[in-house]
Amino acid sequence: MSSFNPIIQDKKIDSKIVVSLERISEAFRVLLWDESKKNSLSPIQIQILIFLLFHSKDHCKVSYLAKEFNMTKATISDSIKALHRKELIKKESDTKDTRSYTISLTNKGMVIARQSSIFTKPLEKTLESMDSTKKEVILDGLLNLIASLNKAEVITIQRMCTTCNNYLFSNNSHYCKLLELELKTNELRIDCPEHAIKEL
Ligand code: SF4
Repeated sequence: MSSFNPIIQDKKIDSKIVVSLERISEAFRVLLWDESKKNSLSPIQIQILIFLLFHSKDHCKVSYLAKEFNMTKATISDSIKALHRKELIKKESDTKDTRSYTISLTNKGMVIARQSSIFTKPLEKTLESMDSTKKEVILDGLLNLIASLNKAEVITIQRMCTTCNNYLFSNNSHYCKLLELELKTNELRIDCPEHAIKEL
């Protein structure tokens, strides 16, 4: 029973949600593709530059990027080589492991990363006019969906509250043990620098 079958969609809200998510991922694909063309880079190269701009050094390694983008290390390495050739990134060898290195942006790479990091502006613009309660419902639903997909090993690394060892949910409220704070739905983080992988 395919969610892409309109007859099934009429009977199941789940199918409508799946197809809606596909349309949104299409919007991302189009916007990212436009940004890539502008800079003569591939979509994954743009994604890597944006990631390097906002994340700490310990996350800026080939193995971490492969998990982050659900790609093989070989594919990420090819993109890194291309970005290095274009002088958009630099590599710093690991003193303990000579095969490993940390990647960072050059000044030229930083400029492109900053400009490209707002490629989702058209999406944000459409959300601006939406009622904040509706946005909280959407955020809550998406966080739960991402956590379930992570648990089912469809997508890998997630640095959000619901997959964090510091997160507690009780009496219908969210709590961060690290910050010692109750979090409202709109305060839940999707990409937290303090995220601690949940112990199973
Ligand atoms: S450490 Fe960050 S991700 Fe973890 S619960 Fe606290 S705010 Fe959320």
